[in-house]
Amino acid sequence: QNRNPELNERIETVLESLRLGDDSLRQIMQLLEQEMDTGLSPATHAKADVKMFPTYVRNIANGSETGQVLALDLGGTNFRVLLVNLLPQGEVRLTSKIFVIPQSIMLGEGVNLFHHLADCLVDFMKQEKLNQPGVHYPLGFTFSFPCHQEGLASARLTSWTKGFTCAGVVNEDVVKMLQKAIDEKNINVQCVALVNDTVGTLMACAYKKPHTSIGLILGTGTNACYMETLDRVGTWNGDYEEPKQVIVNMEWGAFGNNNRLNHVRTRFDEEVDLSSVNPGKQIFEKMISGMYMGEIVRLIILDLMQQDLLFIGQCDNYGDYRIPLFIRGGFYTKFVSTVETDEGIAFSNTRRVLQDMGIRNPTYDDCAIVQHICKNVSKRAARLAGAGLAVLINRINKPQITVGVDGSLYRYHPRFKRNMEKCIKNLVNKNIKFEISLSDDGSGIGAALTVAAEVLSC
Ligand code: ADP
Repeated sequence: QNRNPELNERIETVLESLRLGDDSLRQIMQLLEQEMDTGLSPATHAKADVKMFPTYVRNIANGSETGQVLALDLGGTNFRVLLVNLLPQGEVRLTSKIFVIPQSIMLGEGVNLFHHLADCLVDFMKQEKLNQPGVHYPLGFTFSFPCHQEGLASARLTSWTKGFTCAGVVNEDVVKMLQKAIDEKNINVQCVALVNDTVGTLMACAYKKPHTSIGLILGTGTNACYMETLDRVGTWNGDYEEPKQVIVNMEWGAFGNNNRLNHVRTRFDEEVDLSSVNPGKQIFEKMISGMYMGEIVRLIILDLMQQDLLFIGQCDNYGDYRIPLFIRGGFYTKFVSTVETDEGIAFSNTRRVLQDMGIRNPTYDDCAIVQHICKNVSKRAARLAGAGLAVLINRINKPQITVGVDGSLYRYHPRFKRNMEKCIKNLVNKNIKFEISLSDDGSGIGAALTVAAEVLSC
């Protein structure tokens, strides 16, 4: 904390706009629940910001599934092919291979993308000697792009993201395109499920923890899914047989696109949004996830510098584009974690980060203020995500609920989990015991488990 009380007060005035008390969170919870119902109702679905897509996944893995499943994972940092062996007593054996998707394929024709995926699959199967005649291999396809699902193994791509622009895929059924490419290779592989990464995360956690009914991603973006009862899913067009439930992929990053969060957004959030590639979209995500958190911190630092409240006399070349601090995106979200790991008065990590940012000799006060900014920004993110989870926990309303979480922001930030848990405790029905648990390899193991729970168990 800055020792000059007047300067302190001015800094607090700026940071005050980031603080969301429990009452604000309760109001946000109400708004989210309204938006969820809008997304679930066929009459209002089209105008909903939170789309609440039914995934057609009806069964949660329970650890008893056994068998051999292949999985393809496209949409994360790498493309992977996996063979998952589900053994008795919940043991999992996994082999996988990472393949590169060349730029020319990412930007080329869609059919070539799927041919490439099939080629990689063939290559992997040869390596693993998976070509015994007469053996059929079920496959789960983790495809982490927005899709409108029409069945467990049928999904139309809504739009490409993350640098892909392959022509002729938007509005097409990506499972059909994949299966066609696989069939042309004459291998005995059937794609039986398209799996969103949130669903994979839920599944991978459920395999170890039976009360898991929510999956959450906190990485580059944020999204959640949960098990919903069929009578609340107005948009459901599948059968009503047991189990009368389906996992709903919320696409909750888009909450706030209908201006419902304007009262809690700051001018920093507006600036992040306006300079993004998708202004007006993914408003909730932009207040929470790894792609934006560092940038919010950077904008607040610049604001305090302009008000002469930070790095006083430390930076005589304000705005110099060669200094990382002045470059958009120059303050990475991983630095927020680094800065917050400092305890005590030495601030050795914070100093290192600031020096890398182009501030040569930050003072003790400078370091303390930067850490204070980081804590406020990440705490707000954790509390917003926590409020979202609280809505789901209260809605599911079972005595014990486990939330499976994956993503680097959650994994590596030193306080995210604690802040989220603390806030959820105040917001959920007191009779519910909840647990937040790191879920490993949702897009690999989770995809295989989705296949196993839906197909092998029948
Ligand atoms: P993805 O979501 O792309 O599948 P990740 O879960 O690994 O992959 O998330 C990557 C994002 O996580 C990065 O964009 C970055 O913003 C954030 N991140 C990476 N390392 C850290 C860290 N140490 N602390 C906080 N956030 C991090």
